[in-house]
Amino acid sequence: MSKVALVTGGTRGIGEAISKALKDAGYTVAATYAGNDEKAKAFTDATGIATYKWNVADYDESKAGIEKVEADLGPIDVVVANAGITRDAPFHKMTPDQWKEVIDTNLTGVFNTIHPVWPGMRERKFGRVIVISSVNGQKGQFAQANYAATKAGDIGIVRSLAQEGARANITVNAICPGYIATEMVMAVPEKVREQIIAQIPAGRLGEPDEIARCVAFLASDDAGFITGSTISANGGQFFS
Ligand code: NDP
Repeated sequence: MSKVALVTGGTRGIGEAISKALKDAGYTVAATYAGNDEKAKAFTDATGIATYKWNVADYDESKAGIEKVEADLGPIDVVVANAGITRDAPFHKMTPDQWKEVIDTNLTGVFNTIHPVWPGMRERKFGRVIVISSVNGQKGQFAQANYAATKAGDIGIVRSLAQEGARANITVNAICPGYIATEMVMAVPEKVREQIIAQIPAGRLGEPDEIARCVAFLASDDAGFITGSTISANGGQFFS
């Protein structure tokens, strides 16, 4: 029977590419989303991949959603915590709501995604956990104190769980994408985007598939001895 993979935020952008790459690699994939029903339907129509709607920031919703996925598809072997948002503002203008929304989604959302699948992975003595962090969690970024805090925090979760999961054959790794051509980045004003591209030695944005292939590798048997690590995929923008 094929392994089961859960991809949060798996219907759009980087997550969409990850869902497709895992399906192509032979996994039964469940892709989650927050509210964009139209995009989720178009995604399922195009790929045949099952979609599930819940808010990763809500623990009870996440747990119930994960139980439903496991009832439908079987125990989850691979979990990709990818869902994330930005609410950018320079710190002196950042509101407590902007801070909290990003923390709840990008940091607590990662806890809410991994915690319900962790006991089953421990029991079955197998698991692949992959968290999509960011170059801006490694280096910080103007107007992204909230976002950078969550993405740096995600690396802390990964390094801790790698130690806890190792004896149970669970690997836990982070990928730190640089700027990738998704709606999140295309929403940035063109002038700012040009400035961003000018700082990338590769001279271009990354493609969602370039992150998806890293995920497929970390999920594979070939990556069984890699845990607690951070793959930087950023066109040379930052070395960690
Ligand atoms: P997109 O905005 O294109 O897609 C985000 C996805 O996450 C959507 O499927 C969205 O659902 C889902 N989502 C958002 N909030 C929630 C929530 N509260 N609960 C459940 N699902 C949610 O993002 P990207 O593909 O650009 O980014 C994916 C990940 O990669 C994020 O964690 C981001 O921080 C990270 N990243 C992105 C970079 C980039 O350059 N794009 C660079 C570095 C890291 P819906 O469609 O319903 O809105």
